Amino acid sequence: MYLAQPTRYDNMQYRNVGSSGLKVSAIALGFWHNFGDDDVLSNQRDIVHTAFDHGITYFDLANNYGPPAGSAEINFGRILHEDLAAYRDEMVIASKAGYYMWPGPYGEWGSKKNIVASCDQSLKRLGLDYVDIFYHHRPDPNTPLEETAQALDLLVRQGKALYIGISNYSAEQTAAIAKIFKQLGTPFIIHQARYNMMDRWVEDGLLNTLGKLNKGMVAFSPLAQGRLTDRYLHGIPADSRASRSDSPFLDKDKVEPTIKVATQLNELAKNRGQSLAEMALAWNLKGKVVSSVIVGASRSSQLLDNLKALDKLDFSADELSAIDEILKA
Ligand code: NDP
Repeated sequence: MYLAQPTRYDNMQYRNVGSSGLKVSAIALGFWHNFGDDDVLSNQRDIVHTAFDHGITYFDLANNYGPPAGSAEINFGRILHEDLAAYRDEMVIASKAGYYMWPGPYGEWGSKKNIVASCDQSLKRLGLDYVDIFYHHRPDPNTPLEETAQALDLLVRQGKALYIGISNYSAEQTAAIAKIFKQLGTPFIIHQARYNMMDRWVEDGLLNTLGKLNKGMVAFSPLAQGRLTDRYLHGIPADSRASRSDSPFLDKDKVEPTIKVATQLNELAKNRGQSLAEMALAWNLKGKVVSSVIVGASRSSQLLDNLKALDKLDFSADELSAIDEILKA
């Protein structure tokens, strides 16, 4: 029987999401990869236990995570009920709807029809009555924002979600839907966006907008799917995400052009006494708007390395400009 470590809250930081009362662990665990049916369940269990034992409280899922789509929610739900049921109230569990999930006109995007059905399906797979955060996964150009906002608001009123988030919305789309949520009285608190040293699009408006709205941001792919770690410094290992046929968003062609930059950043990290992964996460957590970084991990040792980021979060002005110089090249 799993018993959580009594020391689990000793070293983690918890940050309020925007001006809300919800605190999340500064490092969160994501289930996009490594939790599908092709991944070994005992390893999944080990990763989840390691996360919880070290104070990670935020677990980030979505309807379509797997493969096959839906299996990450089923596998996490199983681990949750078999091992962590007693700790449900110590966890923030999130899911999302918006990307393709089932055939026909209702299986994706942002209609009320899609969002309500998808949330019900996720709750069933997870074996939960409610999720803590439910996100709209991507903006839908063909559904009025009001409809999407009302559907998300309904989930809160039905008790299926405590808080609402959005993901991959631009600064303008965020401001527009925030206005509607305000009118509805929806607890919209969070935006989930890709943010890492190599992809800084959120610095071009979104972070500012979220700051002004008093909303929090959680960064996904903070390690650029592994490119901001020592994973690829000496080539592409056979057991890495870039080698897997079921991870279409990372391959040799995406990794190779970034190895030089990663190698230089790795030297800088060493001078700070950190691994590149630790430095990359600390860098993401330096701003006020970012509440948490959602990391992926294919083994618990990676998670343990990533957690060490919290030991050194501060950067000197010289370090920050050296990082910018490397990234500019
Ligand atoms: P990361 O950028 O953290 O990449 C994770 C990968 O990096 C791991 O699978 C592993 O690769 C490698 N890695 C992690 N830690 C280390 C380490 N210490 N040393 C060496 N390699 C390491 O994040 P993800 O791209 O996985 O995204 C994280 C989460 O964000 C997702 O699970 C999901 O919850 C969310 N997300 C949300 C999206 C959205 O649209 N809202 C889109 C994408 C992600 P390897 O597998 O090769 O070992």
